[in-house]
Amino acid sequence: MGIEEHSVAVVGGGPTGMVLGAELTLAGVDAVVLERGAEPDRVGARSGGLHARTIEVLDQRGVGDRVVAAGRPMQVNRFVTTGTTLDIGDFPSRRPYGLALWQNRFEEILRDWIAELGVRVIYGREVAGLAQDAAGVDLALAGGGTLRAGYVVGCDGGRSTVRKAAGIDFPGLAATVSSLVAEIELDEPPEPTVHSDERGVSGIGPLGDGLTRAVVCERELRDGDDPTLEDLRAAMVAVWGTDFGLRAGRWISRFTDASRHAATYRAGRVLLAGDSAHIHPPVGGQGLNTGIQDAANLGFKLALVAAGTAPESLLDSYEAERHPVAARVQRNTAAMTALVRGDERTAALREAIDEILQLDEARRAMAGALSGLDIRYDLGDGHPLLGRRMPDLDIATADGPRTVFELLHRARPVLLNLGAAGALDAGPWADRVPVVDATCDGPWELPVIGAVPAPAAVLVRPDGHVAWVGTGDDSGLADALDRWFGPAAPSTAAR
Ligand SMILES: Cc1cc2nc3c(=O)[nH]c(=O)nc-3n(C[C@H](O)[C@H](O)[C@H](O)COP(=O)(O)OP(=O)(O)OC[C@H]3O[C@@H](n4cnc5c(N)ncnc54)[C@H](O)[C@@H]3O)c2cc1C
Repeated sequence: MGIEEHSVAVVGGGPTGMVLGAELTLAGVDAVVLERGAEPDRVGARSGGLHARTIEVLDQRGVGDRVVAAGRPMQVNRFVTTGTTLDIGDFPSRRPYGLALWQNRFEEILRDWIAELGVRVIYGREVAGLAQDAAGVDLALAGGGTLRAGYVVGCDGGRSTVRKAAGIDFPGLAATVSSLVAEIELDEPPEPTVHSDERGVSGIGPLGDGLTRAVVCERELRDGDDPTLEDLRAAMVAVWGTDFGLRAGRWISRFTDASRHAATYRAGRVLLAGDSAHIHPPVGGQGLNTGIQDAANLGFKLALVAAGTAPESLLDSYEAERHPVAARVQRNTAAMTALVRGDERTAALREAIDEILQLDEARRAMAGALSGLDIRYDLGDGHPLLGRRMPDLDIATADGPRTVFELLHRARPVLLNLGAAGALDAGPWADRVPVVDATCDGPWELPVIGAVPAPAAVLVRPDGHVAWVGTGDDSGLADALDRWFGPAAPSTAAR
């Protein structure tokens, strides 16, 4: 029997790997997700929720409603952890809020969704190493055996085997503080409480089903991901003077304030996404959100390259677009981490920054960054929509009323013609890029920057970002189609 082969192997079935698996499968790619866990991991609520842009990305695939129904919409943006909430209720989005939803519940929903899509996930399959050649990558499997793939994406978390095996450096800020996060049973559970000291923020509160969730800073920096109940008890007593009758732990994990960023997101046929590409402290709640948006950005590009429709150089735009986003997240989380610690002078700085952030322009700018709604990829100069997320506007089409995001549900691009019906076509790209004639009353308004001129047409990528804006003719359209969706077939290239 020959070795198992796939066009793309996604290593790691966490949130990033699942969303990437969905993107590739929707695009018709032969992809497999390899997850080392023997079965889906149902414990370990790490992330507490989603930011607005991540909910929008899920809306673009039609799963936003079921995710929102499982959580609690609320205002979640804070730069100063103990300070003012930066309300985005006035942002022009259908989702002007964040969502409180534990990561394990969110992952359950993702698992159901990708099963419906037919994404192939193999549990109990751990990747131990890799070797690549000009045509593909051989993955060495723990326990023996090899799997070959045209491309491999490491979505295998902060300690990524794929990143290390591909020889990609992970420079950044070393850990100074470690914390324990745990789901525990207590005899005397306290009221939800937050404690801030020179080492950072600790918190404790109910998780449901008689369980309590605790996040506790340790007094000394510890390493390793195998903390014990006694480690947790010692840390709780040091912070609160009591262990609240700690009886049992369902799950305990350790994380640190280390902040590291992969030197490159691609080494040949190996790419990185999510925590394998960037880690930072959880303050601000950005890690999972950034990973899901990485997957949306990479998915359609890798699908086109793996199918041979677009050149490999398209993959370089993934790093060019996403690296600056994660770098900004890391800068902001490093600043937030510094602000939650410290002496009276740091407390004064915290208060001063919190005061500034109450000014409307400052609030909008920072909340735009934390919610992800202000992300703009550098696609050159031009209309303010270029490179930004397409708003989910109501449109009228020949098939009836639609929203823009409905047009993206199948992870395909769309050329939205808002001028005279039939005035635009996708020429030799018509097989890849559907054209929809529509009318739209707007309002054309973007988060943070406000009103923008109504365009005559927009080319929207599958990740929801605007790749071209028409102002009445098709100038620049062929270049944009070629850049983002591969060259036109030679026989039909004349345009
Ligand atoms: C206390 C805490 C609170 C947090 N709060 C938030 C928050 O509020 N908001 C937010 O956005 N983020 C938050 N995060 C961060 C968030 O949990 C991570 O960013 C997110 O889980 C990253 O997803 P991922 O899929 O990239 O990686 P992971 O979730 O780490 O998934 C990696 C997967 O790969 C598998 N794997 C690993 N190695 C291999 C291998 N060799 N072969 C096969 N499979 C492998 C693992 O089993 C795992 O399933 C928090 C983190 C912590 C610790």
